[in-house]
Amino acid sequence: MPIPKTTNMNNQASSLPTLIDPYGRTLDYLRLSVTDRCNFRCYYCMPEEGVEFVPRKELLTYEELTYLTGIFCEMGVRKVRITGGEPFVRKGIMEFLGQLSAISQLRKITVTSNGTLGEEKMDELLRLGITNINISLDSLDKDRFFEMTRRDKFEEVFDCIMALLQKGFEVKLNCVLAEEKNIQDILPFVELTKSYPLSVRFLEEMPFNGKGTFEPPKWNHNAIYAYIAEHYDRIEKLLDEKNSTSTNYMIKGYKGSFGIIPSYSRTFCGTCNRIRLSATGEMRTCLYGPPRANLRDILRAGADKQELKETIHNVVSQKEKDGFQAEKLQASKPKSSMTFLGG
Ligand code: SF4
Repeated sequence: MPIPKTTNMNNQASSLPTLIDPYGRTLDYLRLSVTDRCNFRCYYCMPEEGVEFVPRKELLTYEELTYLTGIFCEMGVRKVRITGGEPFVRKGIMEFLGQLSAISQLRKITVTSNGTLGEEKMDELLRLGITNINISLDSLDKDRFFEMTRRDKFEEVFDCIMALLQKGFEVKLNCVLAEEKNIQDILPFVELTKSYPLSVRFLEEMPFNGKGTFEPPKWNHNAIYAYIAEHYDRIEKLLDEKNSTSTNYMIKGYKGSFGIIPSYSRTFCGTCNRIRLSATGEMRTCLYGPPRANLRDILRAGADKQELKETIHNVVSQKEKDGFQAEKLQASKPKSSMTFLGG
């Protein structure tokens, strides 16, 4: 059954949050992956040779992505983060963001990118009111950047960040830290916040490298904070946003801030408000957990809106207590690459 043309989400009954999990958490934040494709090859996400991307027909169409997002919004989702792969490599992404921003219940659309978007897209994002953007940047050194992404694009990404700041975007940098990779970048990143009003977040490495093998990170959130505290004695604790995964600080007198995300230690699951939908329709209630349903298949099999809502409800009722419980559910399976999960 084709998607109803006039999916007029605006005048649906007021959508009280209905996505409440077994632990009383309200799930109002959808992380939506629009593609598994990426123009980088970050070592902690995929092998150098890349991964086998899915055939295009297996990717949700923009029409399907908009329709499903509308349904999630009718059920209480208020924030959507657009992820990938790299969202800006998918053709038509700006028109799609235009469709999304027309969904009246949606209060916030944010994007995570590797920083290879051009100025024309930035201006279009501003026009759409999309002003929060996270950029993945793991090093401020051109050679280490190349070593970690296998792409010679450091200047392009850094110029992109400067242009975003200049245009008034709220910019957060996500830096995945790892021993023998980029520990020497921690202090230069903190120093970057002296002159620029951006937030640098240091993330623990996660096991989604498409390789199936992983050592728990030596550089966990405690080690990262201790290292920074050894070098700065004027650290101020900042108030964290509700449901934030990042614990935030600033150096007194600096323009920006830094945060630490215990993405492997998973100390933030108690306030998790996230649902994930991959570019191939896999719905997850936890990044570390197994896919619980495939909304693409259900939709393409002719399910109507009510059936899709029941599926979503059913999945939410199975949400795991935390990322450790979720990880146990698929302990036997090798972990997917982050480019398939959507981060
Ligand atoms: S690890 Fe899973 S449960 Fe914990 S915050 Fe992330 S998505 Fe939520």
